[in-house]
Amino acid sequence: MAKPETLGCTKGMMDAPKVIGIIKRSFKFGRVRHAQWMLTRRCNYRCRGCNVWTDQEGIELSTDEVKRGLDVLRDLGVLEIVFSGGDPLIRDDIGEILERASRNFITTVYDNGSMAVEKMESLRNVDFVAISIDTLDQKKNDYLKGVPGAWKRAMNAVDILKSEGIPVGVSPTISQQNLYEIIDFTKYFINRGIPVWYCFYWYDYPFENRIFSIGKKSDEYEIADAKALAEVYTTLIEMKKENSNIYITNKTLTALRQLALTGTRIWSCKALSNFLVVDHIGRVAGCHNREPVGSIFKLPELWNSPRFRELRREYSKCANCGYLCYIFYSVHDGLSGTIEILRDQWENAKIYVKEIKAKTSA
Ligand code: SF4
Ligand code: SF4
Repeated sequence: MAKPETLGCTKGMMDAPKVIGIIKRSFKFGRVRHAQWMLTRRCNYRCRGCNVWTDQEGIELSTDEVKRGLDVLRDLGVLEIVFSGGDPLIRDDIGEILERASRNFITTVYDNGSMAVEKMESLRNVDFVAISIDTLDQKKNDYLKGVPGAWKRAMNAVDILKSEGIPVGVSPTISQQNLYEIIDFTKYFINRGIPVWYCFYWYDYPFENRIFSIGKKSDEYEIADAKALAEVYTTLIEMKKENSNIYITNKTLTALRQLALTGTRIWSCKALSNFLVVDHIGRVAGCHNREPVGSIFKLPELWNSPRFRELRREYSKCANCGYLCYIFYSVHDGLSGTIEILRDQWENAKIYVKEIKAKTSA
């Protein structure tokens, strides 16, 4: 799925060495914490708000190259990787990639709902599988995804993965198309013990030479009722007091509400500082809207370069997108940001610690 998103250390079950590695890396200063890896441009869906499927370039990094890239990211300090695309599960080697990534990173993978059941064995190690569903209205969902049967396949995938004990949740993209349904949608899933992890529709700002085109400008999707959007955020903050399956932090929701109400940002963008993206051919950029700044294999020598420092300064002043994941990564910057996330997700953390104890004493 072409929708970047968030960290939740507590989403799934991690083994002890991995947790220790992540904790050690979180204390290192000046490191990048989040990576979004768009493993492929290939996709079998035709979503109306997406540019990816209109240009399905077949060239991709090999399995070994992806593995080498993962080692580079680990050594740089990355804690969390979100795999998207295209649909990353379309790759034949996705099992090998996810197994390797899951050893060191909090690993999330997106699926449009069409591949997760078929690739279920590949998903056993990941911390979270996000299945894209935008609405409970089957007809509307299939219209938005551009293929018949998308809703049924996605709902079926959620049920089957859950019954198999794979940490699965649903990921709606909030847009004008589902704005007035988002709260009911959230209630429907959290009442069934299924986490909800949001994306927010935004079309790509016309920068030159962007690394990976995702959001297509669409009047159907663009938010026309900012007040209703702000109310959604307020309601989610309230609902989070009672249910920990709403995977978005209060700080992010507060920042989003402010943006919706006043157009002002209470954060500065941390592209190429707290987060970065990697594309299907191994190029790195601050975000998918920005130009490629080098190969993933050159990152160790580039990370502290004057050029990267200059780019960070430039990106920190940018306000040209509202992709929810980038806002989340920017709002929760550095070690203090990671601690804030853990504090926000404390209920999930307690469950997780209990599971670790049970596992280690078994
Ligand atoms: S948004 Fe839809 S069309 Fe675009 S990559 Fe994701 S599933 Fe495919
Ligand atoms: S605000 Fe940040 S994430 Fe968004 S386009 Fe600008 S640099 Fe990229």
